[in-house]
Amino acid sequence: MVAEVLLPLALAQAYTYGVPVGMVLAPGDYVEVPLGPRSHIGVVWEVRPAVATNLRIRDVVQRFDAPPMPETHRKFIGWLSAYYLEPMGNVLRMVLRVPAALEPPREQLAYRLGSAPPKRMTPQRARVLDIARDGFPLSASELAQAAGVGSSVVKAMAKDGALETVQLPALRPFARPDPDAEAFALSPDQTAAAEELRAAVLEGKHSVTLLDGVTGSGKTEVYFEAMAEALRQGKQVLLLLPEIALTAPFLARVERRFGVEPAGWHSDLRPRERERSWRGVADGSAKIIVGARSALFLPWANLGLIVVDEEHEGAYKQDEGVAYHARDMAVLYGALAHFPVILSSATPSLESLVNVDRGRYASVKLRDRHGRPELPEISLIDMRTAQVPAGSWLSEPLLAEVKAALDAGDQALLFLNRRGYAPLTLCRACGHHLDCPQCAASMVEHRFRRVMQCHHCGHQEPVPLACPKCGTEGKLVPVGPGVERLAEEAARHFPEARMAILSSDITRGVLLRDVLREVADGVHNLVIGTQLVAKGHHFPHLTCVGVVDADLALESSDPRAGERTWALLAQVAGRAGRGEKPGRAFVQTYSPDHALMRALKSGDRDAYYTQEKIIRQGAGLPPYGRLAALIVSDTDAAAAERFAKGLARSVPSTDDVQVLGPAVAPIAVIRGRHRWRLLVKAGREVDIQAFLKQWIGEVKTKGSLKLQVDVDPYDFL
Ligand code: ADP
Ligand code: ZN
Repeated sequence: MVAEVLLPLALAQAYTYGVPVGMVLAPGDYVEVPLGPRSHIGVVWEVRPAVATNLRIRDVVQRFDAPPMPETHRKFIGWLSAYYLEPMGNVLRMVLRVPAALEPPREQLAYRLGSAPPKRMTPQRARVLDIARDGFPLSASELAQAAGVGSSVVKAMAKDGALETVQLPALRPFARPDPDAEAFALSPDQTAAAEELRAAVLEGKHSVTLLDGVTGSGKTEVYFEAMAEALRQGKQVLLLLPEIALTAPFLARVERRFGVEPAGWHSDLRPRERERSWRGVADGSAKIIVGARSALFLPWANLGLIVVDEEHEGAYKQDEGVAYHARDMAVLYGALAHFPVILSSATPSLESLVNVDRGRYASVKLRDRHGRPELPEISLIDMRTAQVPAGSWLSEPLLAEVKAALDAGDQALLFLNRRGYAPLTLCRACGHHLDCPQCAASMVEHRFRRVMQCHHCGHQEPVPLACPKCGTEGKLVPVGPGVERLAEEAARHFPEARMAILSSDITRGVLLRDVLREVADGVHNLVIGTQLVAKGHHFPHLTCVGVVDADLALESSDPRAGERTWALLAQVAGRAGRGEKPGRAFVQTYSPDHALMRALKSGDRDAYYTQEKIIRQGAGLPPYGRLAALIVSDTDAAAAERFAKGLARSVPSTDDVQVLGPAVAPIAVIRGRHRWRLLVKAGREVDIQAFLKQWIGEVKTKGSLKLQVDVDPYDFL
């Protein structure tokens, strides 16, 4: 017999291996096979009798004693690979991220602080001690990784007695969830919504339901009921969240509802926890998994429901590596494995709304539990005529409203979706811009952290005193506002205010949690924040929201810019008036006549979406048409250009597909790579994958040249 084994490498096909006598293999088995000088873990795709050939094939080395990957999961990999034109092996790699989970369960040695001081002290050893002082026993590799040293350092320190070894218990088994552990008495509206979702689960076939209701209407409680139903049927349930929403309080809420801690899956998980979740998903013992987008790739044994919370979130799209969209792939998984999928949002994506229009998705709406309207009263402040002192961003009318709120003992929020102090710094002596040395982008000053940072590659430098070009001192000036600068301005106007700044680079982790709680408790009465504040937090004292620059997100060539701006502004404005007192929102804009601004003012979401649908349909943009982007990049500018232009010349002739470009990408250089873009545009009925395959299927790239294909792109930079 021979086995076709798929390897987690950039390979489109499985490779053939001999099955040694005495080994029994079936599709889905995890095996070790040799390739070149190395050995790899792969998955058996097919087993068949060998046909006599002269080719010498190598044998499978071993079969891992792990639950085989189910057929639906293998189909999912194949389908995803075809859809995104990604070699199957690259997709498989996302499943095989925890090789340790294939080995027999083992006890593990861990290290913690020992009693003796190290015999020898080095900066590396000091870092290890620092981490070990936290008290958690960690494996050698975890500890080494956290300290940024090699594992040998850890082992040497253990020998010294500076670290002490402890035996970690085997992985904790997963407890069985109780579908009825603790649920709220639902309102009549919520009950009706929950019934519809439960019915979809009971039907036991594929369906997609959009759960649409404002923040706080109880969507989470309602989809918990659907999860409970799937659990009663013995199925596994996946709850997908944008990474940033995967917080301890949310997990605690799931735990309260179902009586057991859910399995987690996100980037901060320790390797042991990762392994535990992977094993639990593969053997079916983990019933509830709460995870970020990549949780989709866990080798599901018996998945029966996926809930995608905040389905409109851009974070579901992965742009690096395999460029997939987790919401879309969740729907695909449901279709392949015949189970229901629930998409939940307060500001659904146009894609999902149009799918409801087309009758492909069901829709369940939830009204506010307290009968409040969807949005508070929103006023536009016309910045073309408003009084704004030079070098300031807060208009007189907005300042007056903030003052009134503070005077009344309420809370006010100023929103500006721009991190740092100023987006641009230039020299008044010579006009030089401070740009990133590796990207065609400005360095952004972060005054709190005292660095200049590139938001595209992360490159950091100290804030220079003199212009790097002409050497003049004291002439560098910030241009435009970021939240930090806005906070400075606000402090000038309201010196007495108890201010909090919420921005992902200053407030994160535990600090963020504490500040959010303080804001909710009214410890701070003036909050300055980026989109971090938009994420569904409940601030009962907040009555006044000011959007400092509503036009910011609209100015982009991205077809979804409008939709995103709507979601963001509606969410931010919606923070006001969620407590006892009514709230108001004030939106500073230079384009008060824009359809989006008018709809915001009248609080008419449907009017906005209707308008947006007409625009998209007219332009043949998603969800009315298909897009795919090709991104050519090379460290050599001329080579990138030549290749991109060559691609354009070889477009297969067809009437159904339009190829736009090549054009220099809006961010022309990132990390030293020069970038060109082409955009493929086609009708919904066109098989855009077939077109792409015909066009670039055989194209080879050389040297540092990279050709990325992004089917259904969300990023146009
Ligand atoms: P959403 O997911 O729509 O933002 P949640 O489900 O998070 O709304 O509900 C918002 C808050 O209201 C949560 O603290 C939740 O526990 C509470 N809540 C929702 N429904 C009820 C209910 N029927 N009874 C009591 N509390 C509820
Ligand atoms: Zn950069």
